[in-house]
Amino acid sequence: MATIEMTNIVKKYGDGFAAVNDVSIDVQDGEFMILVGPSGCGKSTLLRMIVGLEDITSGDMVIDGRKVNDLAPRERNLAMVFQNYALYPHLTVYENIAFPLRLAGTLSSSEIDSKVREASSTLELDEHLQRKPGNLSGGQRQRVAMGRAIVRNADAFLFDEPLSNLDAKLRGQMRTEIARLQRRLGITTVYVTHDQTEAMTLGDRVAVLRRGVLQQLATPRELYTRPVNLFVAGFIGSPPMNFLPATVSGDQVELPFGTITVPAEKARAAEGRGLLIAGIRPEHFEDAQVVDEETRRRGSTFSAHVDVVEWLGHEAYAYIPFEAPPEVAEQLDQLERELDGEAMRTQLVVSLDANSGISKGEDAEIWVDSREIHLFDPGTGENLTAGTTTA
Ligand code: ATP
Repeated sequence: MATIEMTNIVKKYGDGFAAVNDVSIDVQDGEFMILVGPSGCGKSTLLRMIVGLEDITSGDMVIDGRKVNDLAPRERNLAMVFQNYALYPHLTVYENIAFPLRLAGTLSSSEIDSKVREASSTLELDEHLQRKPGNLSGGQRQRVAMGRAIVRNADAFLFDEPLSNLDAKLRGQMRTEIARLQRRLGITTVYVTHDQTEAMTLGDRVAVLRRGVLQQLATPRELYTRPVNLFVAGFIGSPPMNFLPATVSGDQVELPFGTITVPAEKARAAEGRGLLIAGIRPEHFEDAQVVDEETRRRGSTFSAHVDVVEWLGHEAYAYIPFEAPPEVAEQLDQLERELDGEAMRTQLVVSLDANSGISKGEDAEIWVDSREIHLFDPGTGENLTAGTTTA
C-alpha cells in the first residue's frame, strides 16, 4: 500500500494549453480518493500522470516517498483498472488473474497457483475460475480485473471511469461492490469519474476539478455543506442547488419571492456587497403546511406560484419560475452550460414532503430553512459564507 503525493502538478500539451494547472493532492495510505469534474477538466490526464502514461510538465509526483516523475509505468507498481476491464476473452478467469504473474516470470507454477487462489477467495470468484469472461456478469468481470491487480501486490488501484458503460441499475450494484472490496482490501485507490453521485458515495475524499484547476479537496459531507464556490455548489448535489439573486441588509436577505431572515454570522460575511447569488438546496424548502410550529420559527415562509409538481412517491418536486436580473444571469448561464445543468436561473426547485397537498398552478406557502443559505460573490463565484459556523 502507498501514499501518493502530487505537488504543483502541471501538464501542458504541445500547444501550451494547461490541461492540469498547478494541482496538489495528497492521497493517504488506504484512502479512496475521487477525481471528479465535467468533461475536459483534466481528471484523466492527472490519473495518467500518476500511473506514468503521460509525462509531467512540472511538479512532483511522489509515491510512497519515492519521486516517480521519470519512472516508467511498470516501475511504479500501480494497477490500472480500465473501463472495459481489458480481460482476455479466450483465457479463463484463472488464467486472466495469473497473467501478470506469468508475464513477470519470477514465480513457480505452485507459487502462482497459491496467489491466484488467495485472490479468488478474497474476491469470491472460486466457483468461476474455469469460466471465460464472456460468461460472467459485469460485476464478476470487474472482480477479475481487480484480481489481476491484487495478485501483483500493486501499491494502489487506479480506476478511470470504470462504470460509465453500464446501465443505471448495474452501475449502482457495481458501485457498492467496488466500495466493499476497497474497504476489505484497504488498498489506496484513485478513481476518476464525471458522476457526482459516484464521487459522493465512494470517496473518502473528493477532489473537484474545473478547467485543470483544483477547486476543492474535501470529504463528501464538507463539499455538500461548505462548497467553496458556485461551481462546486452547482456540481455537487442532485437535483442541484438553487441559485437566486439576493441582496443583504442587516440579517435580512431579499430574494425574488420575498425577504428571509438569515443567521447574523452569514449576513455579516456578505455585508455591503450589493447584488449577490444566494444558494439554497431543494431539500431545504418545504410545504409550509406540513412544517410544525417550532421548525417554522427556525426559518422563513414566503408565497410563490408553483407551475409544475412532480410526485415521486417518497417526495415531490415543485417548480417555481422566476427571472434573474442581467447582473447575475450571465454568471448563471455560464455555470449551466459548464455543468450541463438544468435551467438554473429561471426556476426554483423545491423538494416537498410526499404528503404535501401543493398542486400545479397554485399559489403556495413555502417554508425555507434560512440557516442553510449560502451567499456567493457573483463576480468571483466565491462562497462568502463557507467559513461560517452556523449550519
Ligand atoms: P473526459 O471526462 O471527457 O475524459 P477529462 O476531464 O478526463 O475529460 P482530460 O482527458 O484529462 O479531461 O483532458 C483535459 C484537457 O486536455 C481537455 O481539454 C483535452 O482536450 C486536452 N487534451 C487531452 N489530451 C490531449 C492531447 N494529447 N493533446 C492536446 N490536448 C489534450
